Amino acid sequence: MKKASEVKPEATSHIGKKRLYSEALCGNLPKRSEQKTFKLTVKTKSDHSIENMKTLDKTKVNPVDMKIGITRFKGLRNGRLLIETQNKLDIDALSKTINELCGEELEALTPRRMNPRLIIYNVPDELYIENAKELIMKQNSELCVENEDKTPNYLFKDKRKAKNLVIEVNCTARMKLLGKKMKLGWNMCNVDDYIKINRCYKCSKFNHRAQDCKGN
Ligand SMILES: [Zn+2]
Repeated sequence: MKKASEVKPEATSHIGKKRLYSEALCGNLPKRSEQKTFKLTVKTKSDHSIENMKTLDKTKVNPVDMKIGITRFKGLRNGRLLIETQNKLDIDALSKTINELCGEELEALTPRRMNPRLIIYNVPDELYIENAKELIMKQNSELCVENEDKTPNYLFKDKRKAKNLVIEVNCTARMKLLGKKMKLGWNMCNVDDYIKINRCYKCSKFNHRAQDCKGN
């Protein structure tokens, strides 16, 4: 993407087909690396090599018949096969088909996408996992969060002995709660994203684990 300084402002002339800087920015297609992909990995149940697994998949599963586009099909260092598509439905269908047709020899696994998690700081001592939902609902109706939108995950005490609650929410609930304060007992509790960083032991890069590492 161009830096602001490289783009001449068009604010004074709206004539012709030239686009405004803001329009140019919005109209930019996502870069290849930003395009969303959906993946599954295939693992062997009976010591197949990557090449064998590829052949098995290719002979039994037909992406043409399934009308599915495969954006990636490659072996990983951990002996698994990686398959990527640009569509969630495609990857689910593919996973199901592989497990149905090659289930005796192969297993297709789709990674579970974690819901966002939020941390609620300094919750009262009387709050436990068991009553957390109820207490949140009782005092925070103006936040309009549905009861089933959140699952209390766990509680922990920080260095200052404050009790914090981590909850799993859906995206709608995250938007409603983020940056808000939650009333709990006699406390006003800040809410923030709870991010546990996923870092690879092997190459030290982020967002994958060592067992899925493609680096050195
Ligand atoms: Zn790595």
